[in-house]
Amino acid sequence: MNSSARLSWGRYPHHPQTAHAVHWPSEVEGAAASALAQGSGGTLAFGMGRSYGDSCMAASDHVVAMAGMDRVIAADWETGVVVAQAGLTLGALIDIALPRGWFLPVTPGTKFVTLGGAVANDVHGKNHHVMGTFGCHIRRLALFRTQDGVVDCSPQDNAELFRASVGGLGLTGIVLSVEIQLRRVPSAYMAQRSIKFGGLDEFFDLSEQLDAQHEYAVAWVDCLATGRQAGRGHYIVGNHAQEGGLQVSSAKPKSMPVDPPVSLVNAASLRVFNTLYYHRQQARQVHATVGYDPFFYPLDKLLHWNRMYGRAGFQQYQCVVPFASSRDAIRAVLAEIARSGSGSFLAVLKRCGDVPSPGLLSFPLPGVSLALDFAQRDIANARLFAKLDALIHEAGGRLYPAKDAHMSAVHFQQAYPAWPQVEALRDPHLKSRFWNRVTP
Ligand SMILES: Cc1cc2nc3c(=O)[nH]c(=O)nc-3n(C[C@H](O)[C@H](O)[C@H](O)COP(=O)(O)OP(=O)(O)OC[C@H]3O[C@@H](n4cnc5c(N)ncnc54)[C@H](O)[C@@H]3O)c2cc1C
Repeated sequence: MNSSARLSWGRYPHHPQTAHAVHWPSEVEGAAASALAQGSGGTLAFGMGRSYGDSCMAASDHVVAMAGMDRVIAADWETGVVVAQAGLTLGALIDIALPRGWFLPVTPGTKFVTLGGAVANDVHGKNHHVMGTFGCHIRRLALFRTQDGVVDCSPQDNAELFRASVGGLGLTGIVLSVEIQLRRVPSAYMAQRSIKFGGLDEFFDLSEQLDAQHEYAVAWVDCLATGRQAGRGHYIVGNHAQEGGLQVSSAKPKSMPVDPPVSLVNAASLRVFNTLYYHRQQARQVHATVGYDPFFYPLDKLLHWNRMYGRAGFQQYQCVVPFASSRDAIRAVLAEIARSGSGSFLAVLKRCGDVPSPGLLSFPLPGVSLALDFAQRDIANARLFAKLDALIHEAGGRLYPAKDAHMSAVHFQQAYPAWPQVEALRDPHLKSRFWNRVTP
């Protein structure tokens, strides 16, 4: 047992969890039993804690920590099929695969997540519009269930359990290993194009026109801009470059050294940063060749950047709204946020595509997703989120459980109608604080 506290990335809600660490599959049953004996309400696997809210928090406050199970079990470098233990991080997998010409088919905005965590949240990336979610590239899972032992599942075998486990928020079992199909890449570099846009309509026009021509697409928006400039930002697209070699990144991250007592992110610092950041690119359009690290993982440059929000922590608000209502809904959401004067340095807009995911609770739907962080201020956040939730709900959108710490049971159950199928296949000894909040 490891007593160092495991929190979620947003450090809100603040419930330090005790880690029962495992290094081999044979230890998982004992660790789960010990977690269950010491806490009540249900345990949960814990990866790198890169989920923001309470979906990675066990109802018992005792988790089975998976990061020590990080070995590659088998790899075929002809086909790019790799089988690895679920605690292996995406960063470690890149380090092994990239020199051999293979890369992740889908990656979130940090490489400090485990394979198990990426499966459980069925994460998506900047290429959702062409490659779908992480789960679309998973061929097989070995799942430990407290009452059945190890169960193999895939799109062909135990298919319902597979569908419930991809994006299943860690509730159907503890993933021991993952078989994934990687994708070939010619280079470790990315051909990037960055276009400055003056308002939200321009973003929609650019992304409708250019997303299809690029594998990766995302936009940064100035969440405080108002009037005609509301929704201004930088639209960034890219493809894998053809040249440059296959060497892995050797950049050493810096670290946020201390916990400031209060958030460094406030209306004044935000306004200055957003204005400077918007104007840092003078030309309307810039082409550049950049490494995969700054392209996919700019935030990983600063370890523990979550400390910037002070001891109270922060919440991320990530929603997706169907195309039909997205222009109006995103405009209204950004207007509410600008009016509130809060928000984050990083507000991200992305068009999600229509590649179906195997996961029953997968977040993306064909439409536009907006994500941004809010320093934790109990009353102000609750007031703002209630307004945003109403807009998203009315527009037929939904919130991302991996980022959530406030969604109501009513909104969750309407937005994720397949939840009873996951509940029916849930391992009765696995339960999160999130699941307690959003289901009866
Ligand atoms: C900077 C940053 C950028 C991000 N960008 C994106 C993005 O672009 N797209 C996106 O989709 N997400 C994004 N995320 C969220 C992140 O990718 C997910 O929350 C991811 O699932 C975290 O993985 P983890 O290993 O840290 O898992 P944790 O956060 O520790 O756990 C997440 C869930 O996985 C379950 N789990 C973990 N390991 C196992 C296992 N072995 N078996 C069963 N269940 C398990 C847990 O029970 C929990 O429900 C981002 C997060 C950060 C901090």
